[in-house]
Amino acid sequence: MSVIELNVLDELIALRRELHQYPELSGEEENTANRIKAWLETCSPSQIIDQIGGHGIAAIFDSETEGPSVLFRCELDALPIFEVGQPKWRSKEDGKAHLCGHDGHMSIICGLARHFAENPPRKGRIILLFQPAEENGAGASAIINDPKFSLIKPDYAFALHNLPGRPLHEIGVKSGPFNFASEGLIVNLVGKTSHASHPEDGISPASAVAEILAKLPNVPQELGYDHRTALCTLISTRMGGKAFGVTPADARIKATLRSSTNAAQQKLMHHMQELVKQVARRNGLGVTLNHREKFLSCQNDPEATNYIKKAAKNCNLALDELQEPFRWSEDFGNFSLVAKTAMFVLGAGQTQPQLHNSDYDFPEELIETGMKMFVSIADELCG
Ligand SMILES: [Zn+2]
Ligand SMILES: [Zn+2]
Repeated sequence: MSVIELNVLDELIALRRELHQYPELSGEEENTANRIKAWLETCSPSQIIDQIGGHGIAAIFDSETEGPSVLFRCELDALPIFEVGQPKWRSKEDGKAHLCGHDGHMSIICGLARHFAENPPRKGRIILLFQPAEENGAGASAIINDPKFSLIKPDYAFALHNLPGRPLHEIGVKSGPFNFASEGLIVNLVGKTSHASHPEDGISPASAVAEILAKLPNVPQELGYDHRTALCTLISTRMGGKAFGVTPADARIKATLRSSTNAAQQKLMHHMQELVKQVARRNGLGVTLNHREKFLSCQNDPEATNYIKKAAKNCNLALDELQEPFRWSEDFGNFSLVAKTAMFVLGAGQTQPQLHNSDYDFPEELIETGMKMFVSIADELCG
């Protein structure tokens, strides 16, 4: 199957390198979105929807014949990491870089726009979505909650993520939980300072901090989960100030909870909060709890997952049917609430630096592979 002319592939590689040089962080993807919009306008889609969920942008190719609406999603944002690799297309923005491969994912979806411009769907609609703010977990829900999402309303939604450490071009997928839900918990404890010579006159959070640090990571295990299904990881802790003459009055603990299902995540977060409140109460401390960077677990729909498996076969790609979900998170999970979703990983090579490593760079060989997979799925549903 030929889905791509060689000169188009050259253009997509050039686009990838250009996007790589001008990375923008989550929620700030204005120039990236403008560049993508300019590309999409050359592909004459039926409709372009911009400024959706922030700087999100979508192109719709409508057959105007009854059939499913099929969405393919990529991400616009880069990371606040200094790139130490030295490719010719190295980031021109110090301290910002495309080290998760979203530049490559965007090129794949731009390639699809070119493909559907010349080979429009015969039935239903193809929606190409460039989502902002994936890295902080805010973008997918912002898209879904945007009133303009009513113009999109997909029946199926697909996404891929390149993944180093796995054979180049290999497809990895499973039905059911595909990756973990994740959420950051911030615990703020408040007591009362005293002179360090009279600690009994104050309320120090020290022993509560020690108890919470010891007990919090064990909550999943105590409720019968193991590391394949849930884990709580301590992230940071801070207490008191610099003066040796003053006992501390305040402390902050940060932890991340991850679970393979949204139900487990909810249950475990509830237990963690109750534990913290109980320890605070026993120590006479005030407590406030805050949450950050909430990601839902991506639940791969069995039917949608089968389209991915079939596409891998059609494209002659190695297929690894995964036994367990990945422990990392992806906000694509939010689309599981509104459509039949399936996500897969595309092997980025066993020696490739890991995602978010400062020397990572997207393997450009994957642009054509990613396109072939999505075109094969689209042909199945809208061909
Ligand atoms: Zn990332
Ligand atoms: Zn990513």
